[in-house]
Amino acid sequence: HRELQDLTCRLANTLKKYGIQKGDRVAIYMSVSPLSVAAMLACARIGAIHTVVFAGFSAESLAGRIMDSGCKAVITYNQGVRGGRTIELKATVDEAVKNCPSIQHVFVAQRTDNKVHMGDRDIPLEEEMTKADPTCPPESMDSEDVLFMLYTSGSTGKPKGIVHTQAGYLLYAALTHKYVFDYQQGDVFGCVADIGWITGHSYVVYGPLCNGATSVLFESTPVYPDPGRYWEVVQRLKINQFYGAPTAIRLLLNYGEEWVKKYDRSSLRVLGSVGEPINKEAWQWFYQVVGEGRCTLVDTWWQTETGGICIAPRPSEEKAEIIPAMAMRPFFGIVPVLMDENGEVIEGNDVSGALCIAQPWPGMARTIHGDHQRFIDAYFKAYPGYFFTGDGAYRCHKGYYQITGRMDDVINISGHRLGTAEIEDAMADHPEVPETAVVGYPHKIKGEGAFAFIVLKEQTARVDHIKEELKAIVASRIAKYAVPDHILVVKRLPKTRSGKIMRRLLRKVVTEQSSNMGDVTTLDDPSVVKEILDAYQKYKEKNSL
Ligand code: AMP
Repeated sequence: HRELQDLTCRLANTLKKYGIQKGDRVAIYMSVSPLSVAAMLACARIGAIHTVVFAGFSAESLAGRIMDSGCKAVITYNQGVRGGRTIELKATVDEAVKNCPSIQHVFVAQRTDNKVHMGDRDIPLEEEMTKADPTCPPESMDSEDVLFMLYTSGSTGKPKGIVHTQAGYLLYAALTHKYVFDYQQGDVFGCVADIGWITGHSYVVYGPLCNGATSVLFESTPVYPDPGRYWEVVQRLKINQFYGAPTAIRLLLNYGEEWVKKYDRSSLRVLGSVGEPINKEAWQWFYQVVGEGRCTLVDTWWQTETGGICIAPRPSEEKAEIIPAMAMRPFFGIVPVLMDENGEVIEGNDVSGALCIAQPWPGMARTIHGDHQRFIDAYFKAYPGYFFTGDGAYRCHKGYYQITGRMDDVINISGHRLGTAEIEDAMADHPEVPETAVVGYPHKIKGEGAFAFIVLKEQTARVDHIKEELKAIVASRIAKYAVPDHILVVKRLPKTRSGKIMRRLLRKVVTEQSSNMGDVTTLDDPSVVKEILDAYQKYKEKNSL
């Protein structure tokens, strides 16, 4: 903590020297490292607002976020290192800031020894930090001043800058960290999320550090150099709480138990799952194999907007039952309600509905940067007086909650949220593809994958080529993880008489529920359903799905 404070203050003074002041926005485009944590804290210390952009996002995504938030500076690395590969972070920043007039400086830290091009506005960060004063008094902030913003996907339009404020967010991150994970003084807390996501903000940086914890920074991937990586880290650092994503667990369980059993995991007390629904098989493997059936396993439900965990099996009465693959119990002050289609609260148990929260809590987002109306429309319009999460949930006969998945056009790929509209918007750039519709489909490892239906302007022999071009467009406009796994050419998309694409039907096709298409009477031409089903069937046979 002493060293981190030194790093933070030197970095804070460097930012100040280059004109960053209270209220200014700073983008952080870095892989997980002590310096990237210090970068977040340095912004907080001087009252600047950080917006961390996951270092896997493309130059165009980064530029979009910088422009929307009006960042004055970017903090980055020359290169990133991940799973044995180097990632050209500075080159991506260079590409991004070409179109960002608000950027005055790019602070470049060294993660590798390789030299990168340094231009007029680029500042070698460590060099400056060596010269900087190691003390920097913290700026006085109002409890409701902005601490950070973090972009996340909605069902429509461009990503939204979710705004979190100082006191309530920190309180909520710290409290949930302490009580959901039974954090005790001296524990080593291992959350393997990237700081580019809200989980990294709340449970790598703010929650654990506020509680004086030792927080583990994980820069790599679960399978590098081998599938024992997580458990080797657990043994080496004597981790007490291990918090990760179901997608990684699903990947690891394919490699067999010997990779886990090779390492001493006796330090572990609590295991946590986050970011997407955890299936029973993954839950059991995590619980039995990793936790040897003796650790508490908490499936934690929350979102970028909630700031911290809202529903999880703990805290609870001591030794209270935990039902596999269920988030179960609301945290202190969280009042979940389920709503029916008419906007009425559903009472009783063994019921499903739209998951809303009935009263505010300290960690809730305060607005969407630059668009408060969008904030109101997205979260408070569907059910006036309630915060609508976008998720559906089931309340079982015992009154526990189980999250059933998104109710909007947002999909969750490896725990990363993405609006299908964003993928469609990117693909719309292709001159030979006038129409696209993207839906999520169940994927064994990733949880969900993107399945794209496209219409071509004219018949062409270039189909495979066009598909590759579309994939390249999505990778460069959003990120590699957003690239659809499947692209199927259809003659036309299913539309209502008013011209709206009925993605619901396409979801039924890719989830193989075509026997139960639901109401198709609003379709402009119902024969389109058979047409698409036939095309899908052929595609499946050809690709041996
Ligand atoms: P994000 O804001 O990127 O963290 O994504 C939040 C979304 O991920 C939620 O709205 C859910 O759809 C999903 N999610 C997060 N945690 C869980 C969980 N424990 N169970 C089911 N879905 C989850």
